[in-house]
Amino acid sequence: MKFGIVQKELFNAKAGSYSIVTEREVYDSQITATDAESSLLVDYYTSKGEGIHVGNVALDRQAAAKPFKLYPKGDVVYLNLVYPKPEKNELRLYLSSTAGFKPEKGMVWFLFLDKDDDIWIGAMQERRWREKGLLRVEDDYPSDVFSEMDSTKADDGEDVQAKTVEVKRWRRSGEIALKRMQLSKFKCEFDREHNLFIARSTGCPFLESHHVVPIRFQPHFKKVSLDTIKNLCCLCPNCHRAIHHSEESYARAILAKLAECRDIERNFSISLEDLFRLYSVEEIVR
Ligand SMILES: [Zn+2]
Ligand SMILES: [Zn+2]
Repeated sequence: MKFGIVQKELFNAKAGSYSIVTEREVYDSQITATDAESSLLVDYYTSKGEGIHVGNVALDRQAAAKPFKLYPKGDVVYLNLVYPKPEKNELRLYLSSTAGFKPEKGMVWFLFLDKDDDIWIGAMQERRWREKGLLRVEDDYPSDVFSEMDSTKADDGEDVQAKTVEVKRWRRSGEIALKRMQLSKFKCEFDREHNLFIARSTGCPFLESHHVVPIRFQPHFKKVSLDTIKNLCCLCPNCHRAIHHSEESYARAILAKLAECRDIERNFSISLEDLFRLYSVEEIVR
């Protein structure tokens, strides 16, 4: 599958693709490129004016071996990449520990182009891959450094201290969050039966607000504001943690429920599958 916003950011990549290495691929020491992998490789070599060898590797070892930068260090490895058949309907990459790239089964392997148009290859455990893309609760309140006057008022209303400070935050509205909670009748949006304690400060059931399409991706959604009542949801503290940290299937269940009543496809031009990818809980193809 193709790199999404998260993977492009993580690897500082222009384009890329990833999938899970199957037992068969490890056993055969070869990977048959998926459509996404294949189009990335074909486009890359076409743009370089370089061909991909057709036929058996032994026919022309020099033409078959292609250099890749190995993630993360960037050492160059030469791997055989060929079309085994003249019809070119299947693109095959050979794995080799001697050459320096032999992922284990179940690992996520990936290819990507960096900003200098160098091609990289790598593999890592699925857990690590997902952890790299983990969306932290702290990411709910990110970015935008701007200056603001910070003045502390004494009890009598007198300014005791005024200075310009750099504030790092998204301009989000607390009013919207309150409105959302009122609309949701102060219930957890994933399951209205979830138990809530009463907040000391408000006397209302305690809920946490969260942006379904995470606000830290606002720069990628130029046409629509993400800090809106439609995109905001309120969850019990457990569900809020779960949407960020739980294993994939549970996080997907919560997201699917929240996405359903918001029509994210229409309102934010994003598919449910792409929403999962923003949270790094997508199902990775094999
Ligand atoms: Zn959150
Ligand atoms: Zn809940």
